[in-house]
Amino acid sequence: MNKNTTYKQLEDKLVKYKDLKDIPVKENGDVFVSLRPSKPETYGAIGQYEALGDMKDKFPLVPIRKSVSRRLDLVDKALKEINGNLQLVIAYGFRSLEIQQYYFEIQKKKYLESGNLENESIDEVIHRLIAVPTVAGHPTGGAVDVYIRDSQTGAVLDSGVPIFTFDSKDVYTFSPFVSEEAQKNRNLLRRAMMSQNFAPYDGEWWHFSFGDKEWAFYYQQPFAIYEQKSEKVVYTDVQKQ
Ligand SMILES: [Zn+2]
Repeated sequence: MNKNTTYKQLEDKLVKYKDLKDIPVKENGDVFVSLRPSKPETYGAIGQYEALGDMKDKFPLVPIRKSVSRRLDLVDKALKEINGNLQLVIAYGFRSLEIQQYYFEIQKKKYLESGNLENESIDEVIHRLIAVPTVAGHPTGGAVDVYIRDSQTGAVLDSGVPIFTFDSKDVYTFSPFVSEEAQKNRNLLRRAMMSQNFAPYDGEWWHFSFGDKEWAFYYQQPFAIYEQKSEKVVYTDVQKQ
């Protein structure tokens, strides 16, 4: 089987825009908090922006929903029970809807200019690269981009391709074209996140969410519990923290 057929099979299993677009939302009022880059406790997820720092000016510390933060701490704890040196790092959380829209338009333009149009709706194709803004998880504060680091050596666990690689289909969680070690590390992260009810997005090994439409779809919930929020709301919340 050639590589493209394998990628196509993996794509077919990813959550689609059409799966998400009609899911209702009942906001549960969970507030936003900032993730600290280090913690005094012996366990706890930490927040550190990576290459993708587009929210850094307004929010120097990664903002996410409070109960997401609590769940991430428990994921970190579970990892440390396997190996005390493992550290869960959150490289991205809340994204403003404007930025989501901006990225979406860039990808759409690129795709249309490529002339290599697939037999699918444009929204569906672009959704695999960047979520359609109306269903996107990052603007709810429930979606996170995460990886595992060895806190002793500072080394990032090998996941085949680094977080925020956008030009390789080997970011698909189940790509068989990455090393066995990388597959093992991806599974470790996925299992740990799912143990705290995060929904995986298997189109990017680093993306998980709680409370958003993707989460509601994955766990067959009748509605999502986080709606998308404006920067102003998020800012007010984190100031009160
Ligand atoms: Zn993400």
